[in-house]
Amino acid sequence: MSISALDIERVVHGGFCIGCGVCRSVEPAIEISLNKYGEYVANLDNSNEHGRRIASNVCPFSVNVNETELADEVFNGQMQHESIGRFSGLFAGYSLKDRESGSSGGVITYIIKRLFESKEIDYAILVRQRMANNIRGLEFAFDVISSDLEVASGSTSFYYPVTYSEALEFIAKNPGRYAITGVPCFHKAIRLLKRQNPLYRERIQYQIGLVCGQLKSTLYLEYLLRRADVPSGKIESARFRRKDSQNRADEYFFEAVTRGDDEKKNLYRVGNKQIGVNWGMGLFKPKACDYCDDVFAETADIAVMDGWLPQYVKDGRGTSLIVVRDRRLMDVLYSGQEAGSMYLESVSVEEIVKSQQGGLNHRKQGLAYRLSISMGWTPTKRIRPSSDFSLLFKVEQIMRLVLRKTSRHAMTVQIKVESGLLIFNTLMALQLFAYRVVQKLKRIFKLSIY
Ligand SMILES: Cc1cc2nc3c(=O)[nH]c(=O)nc-3n(C[C@H](O)[C@H](O)[C@H](O)COP(=O)(O)OP(=O)(O)OC[C@H]3O[C@@H](n4cnc5c(N)ncnc54)[C@H](O)[C@@H]3O)c2cc1C
Ligand code: SF4
Ligand code: SF4
Repeated sequence: MSISALDIERVVHGGFCIGCGVCRSVEPAIEISLNKYGEYVANLDNSNEHGRRIASNVCPFSVNVNETELADEVFNGQMQHESIGRFSGLFAGYSLKDRESGSSGGVITYIIKRLFESKEIDYAILVRQRMANNIRGLEFAFDVISSDLEVASGSTSFYYPVTYSEALEFIAKNPGRYAITGVPCFHKAIRLLKRQNPLYRERIQYQIGLVCGQLKSTLYLEYLLRRADVPSGKIESARFRRKDSQNRADEYFFEAVTRGDDEKKNLYRVGNKQIGVNWGMGLFKPKACDYCDDVFAETADIAVMDGWLPQYVKDGRGTSLIVVRDRRLMDVLYSGQEAGSMYLESVSVEEIVKSQQGGLNHRKQGLAYRLSISMGWTPTKRIRPSSDFSLLFKVEQIMRLVLRKTSRHAMTVQIKVESGLLIFNTLMALQLFAYRVVQKLKRIFKLSIY
């Protein structure tokens, strides 16, 4: 099917834009900025029809090339699994040195450091905290680094909107070999860009993927800050995942630091289990994430995820699960194992799938149902629309859509008031209660999927 300017217009006007910013690298008249819900979105107003047509070719939600087809172009000949995609190796592991600073096993931090040390790359693009002109005085954004000494400053997961637009500009202007981190849809966009433009194909040597359940808007940070009782005003730092090595790996906490007038540091924390809302509820999630069918960053050279399996989750120091697709990255891991700086063990396909079962259910059966009830245009997906599910499952999916929408509205009302979460909690109370009742019924009737 031929690409038209209309494709990207449908993505943006339908609310499916994830803000990756890759369209801007081919059509600079497109602007990427935060909307009123704290999500990065493209603004097409200043672009012309030609610009929108070429931008449609790189947008992960507008093109009709799917992740399987893109992965086949680069990883042909490797093993293939319907959920994981192509792969040449599956592991559980951690870096002995970087485990502490990493989200799970510090594997991504380790790999990028080794790539610098072995002079395989000149630059890495990863996410770091930086100062910003907003009410909290900080944000998290892609940054370009050029030394292994800087890698650890970007360790951990940032549940915060980010965009490649500045980073891609840097790549275009600065020759060299790059490694770039990203969630699955961002990697799909980079693959599409590389298909079109040899400059990016040559320079972006390593695409390092993070398995992704959902992204969050800036409202999520504000929500966590209020849950941790951080007073309004500037903060010095925030970390979405601080580990407690004495506890289980899935009992991490959010941490923020402020500095008082007396220059004293104040530390605030809230545990993810204390928060009482869970990941599956999808609060503050962009709409695009409900129309996504790539969990395992199928177009990236490697995909790294949390070790959410019984044998690893008990260890609060963290373990990563790893899907390797690029031979050179496999060598990095093996040589680390030989040198004693990386612990690695093989895991089965079934275990990798099991570790992401919740995300897969949402992106397979859940997506099939959401597509079947969608009104208007939706991105073309590998999953076919279907409504052949139990009533309880359908109600759960509808409630997730409602929770996502209401949470963004409720928090935008709440942030007009300086502190607290009274308005948000009041506006959300009924829906959260109803969702919990559905969850309870599912458990009673033992309905894990349908
Ligand atoms: C939005 C999001 C959703 C996720 N969802 C899941 C999930 O559902 N299931 C699961 O098992 N794992 C998920 N992960 C991945 C998981 O949280 C860890 O990032 C992964 O296990 C790698 O851990 P590590 O210790 O090896 O990496 P680390 O050594 O901590 O390195 C992580 C690297 O990724 C970069 N990075 C962090 N956040 C982003 C971002 N938003 N975009 C691009 N680069 C980033 C950092 O700068 C750093 O270089 C998610 C991550 C993110 C950011
Ligand atoms: S390429 Fe990325 S930023 Fe541009 S419209 Fe598509 S999703 Fe949005
Ligand atoms: S859930 Fe899908 S659409 Fe959302 S950020 Fe992750 S990869 Fe992108």
